[in-house]
Amino acid sequence: MDIHTVFNRRNKYGPLVFSFNVELLKSEHVNNVRITKVNPVHWNSTQSEKDWYYSDLDEFKDKYKRGNKLKDVGSMLILKDINGKLPLRPFLNKFILDNPNVSVNYNGNETYLSDIVTEKLLEELTKNEFEDVPKHLRHKNSLVNCSCWSQYKNFNRGDLSDLKKLFHPDPGA
Ligand SMILES: [Zn+2]
Repeated sequence: MDIHTVFNRRNKYGPLVFSFNVELLKSEHVNNVRITKVNPVHWNSTQSEKDWYYSDLDEFKDKYKRGNKLKDVGSMLILKDINGKLPLRPFLNKFILDNPNVSVNYNGNETYLSDIVTEKLLEELTKNEFEDVPKHLRHKNSLVNCSCWSQYKNFNRGDLSDLKKLFHPDPGA
């Protein structure tokens, strides 16, 4: 689920999405998939695993996407037995980066933030040999029915710490 598109707002997990082909789940890299019923940040110790995870695919089919998008967004895939690593290839489809539509002072010049981030990101992708993977800049030139630009604009008015956390290669700098 692309949270940004579904809720017409920025994704709180960050402005860069790695989009994978669902075939990944059937590949040899993944032996065990569990799907959470609610976002694990809302789990508590009085609950049991039955409250945390769907018990089987039938229960998932029965209860997922039944009109409560807010509930559905808490369904996360937990991949077990991958030894802490998930290979990006061959199932990485594309990178999606938000254009926050703000400009910042960069080396003394007012510069469009997405131009800076795109350039830095391309450098990193090339360095790591991912330059062939499709890249999409979300809201490149315009925005329809989404609140993210006003959210990013507010960040750009404040002390910039939130904006830095999201877009700066070295947020502590
Ligand atoms: Zn948006």
